[in-house]
Amino acid sequence: MPPELTAALALCRNLPSPPGIALRIIELAQDPEADIATAADIIAIDMALSARMLRIANSPLYASRRRIENLGQALTMLGLNATISLALGFTVTQGLTGSGADHDLRQRAWKRSILSALAASQLGQARGLRRLEELMLAGLLQDMGVLCLAQAEAERYLPLLREARDNLDLVARERDVLGCSHADVGAWVAEQWGLPRYLVESISHSEDEDAADSPFQACVQLSGAVADIWLDGDADAARERALQQVHDRLDLDSARFDQVLARISDALPDIASLFEAGLNSPARVHELIDHAQELATLRNLREMQDADQARRRADEFEARAKRLADQAHRDALTGVLNRRQLEAVLEQEFLRAGRHGWPLSVAFIDLDDFKKINDAHGHLTGDEVLRAFAGKLQGQLRNSDTVARFGGEEFVALLPNTSESVALEVIRRVLANIVATPMAELEGGPLFVTFSAGVATQGGYERFADVQDLLRAADDVLYRSKNLGRNRVIARSPGALGHDELSATAGLEAG
Ligand code: GH3
Ligand code: MG
Ligand code: MG
Repeated sequence: MPPELTAALALCRNLPSPPGIALRIIELAQDPEADIATAADIIAIDMALSARMLRIANSPLYASRRRIENLGQALTMLGLNATISLALGFTVTQGLTGSGADHDLRQRAWKRSILSALAASQLGQARGLRRLEELMLAGLLQDMGVLCLAQAEAERYLPLLREARDNLDLVARERDVLGCSHADVGAWVAEQWGLPRYLVESISHSEDEDAADSPFQACVQLSGAVADIWLDGDADAARERALQQVHDRLDLDSARFDQVLARISDALPDIASLFEAGLNSPARVHELIDHAQELATLRNLREMQDADQARRRADEFEARAKRLADQAHRDALTGVLNRRQLEAVLEQEFLRAGRHGWPLSVAFIDLDDFKKINDAHGHLTGDEVLRAFAGKLQGQLRNSDTVARFGGEEFVALLPNTSESVALEVIRRVLANIVATPMAELEGGPLFVTFSAGVATQGGYERFADVQDLLRAADDVLYRSKNLGRNRVIARSPGALGHDELSATAGLEAG
């Protein structure tokens, strides 16, 4: 910076200075021992600042799920660094806008600062940066040189500000007329005020043309171009320019960029009112953002459809794999479990019964005189009867029970956590239902069947060594019931033998 200007600024009585509260926060920012409690003490003194901290904590910038009710909660949520940055932003800028002639020019510069603050932090967020409040503060203060010059050097500076076509042109004219840019002046003032080093640096480099040395700095440098979308008469052209730079320097594509614009637009009303600047998004900016959001929605829809299709296909594959696996477990004719799977389930249930100490009942079921059905009506009818019987048997047991075809016309039912007497009752009820239900409709009339069954229970009166023993026991009892005349269910234990008879009227054929 030219020494004359430095001297002039140093002596200038018009140069804005931070209010007392800002000085205390600047001190806090310099203090390595600072903690949130001290920050809260300082902020609490200033009612207006407290209210602003509370409001920003509840603004869309911090989409917190619960409402923040008091300053303590707000500062705790924000954390020390964010608290200091935001409090600095609210306080050091007081008085910066000044008053007097060319109010509209100062207001415009102030609006650009606020938009730049939002732009810097939202660009940073899109780039995945941390320290978003520091970015916001750096964006806010990057043009403080403009406001300082407008106040301290009003006569020389305001005409430049009025005549400049855009920011680039302004900087060129500043260099021409003042021998330095507003970035130099801003950095100098920031240093005088004792603002943190990173701020002095980022203000100083805010108008650099060449690539920034950090993404943080790039966000600050690009924030002004983004702000101009709101301020420029031609929002479309301003967006194109900003997008170009953001793409080149931050590697954000246009969809991400439009998200940034939408977030700025969302947060703008709250933030502008916090900084006491009337600032809204112009209609054209709204249109741009709406259009971008429609495109994004379309894109999402497409992706969702694709995802939907992929999911459906995966579901189909899974269902088919499951069907195949299931088929391997099931008997092809009747659809109940096959013998191999019965043995697997029986092993599991046997262990489970032992673990839980509950009884496991097994019923061995054999259709009576089935050979005669085949002989009288043919194998196909026999098959039909087997299918119908298996379905009825399964339908009459609980979901936790298992029905399997052991082979031929022999079935096994597993009834976990079922005592022998209950199992006996259940299978007898099944028999009563089966004898009354036609298993096939033939020309001569409906076809009925009966069965004989034997029940054995693990963990009732007996403990079997393994599943084979248990199955054999049930088969033994089945053999007994055949011998006793068929069409009956009996259990193994002597107590159950007394009432093993179940009289049911059933014949091979009826009608
Ligand atoms: P019991 O009352 O003593 O059990 O006499 P049963 O005729 O039912 O017993 P047996 O073991 O003598 O005959 C079983 C018959 O079941 C013989 C066999 O042809 C028939 N069978 C086995 N599997 C099938 C099948 O898948 N389809 C058909 N239709 N019949 C089958
Ligand atoms: Mg048999
Ligand atoms: Mg039989």
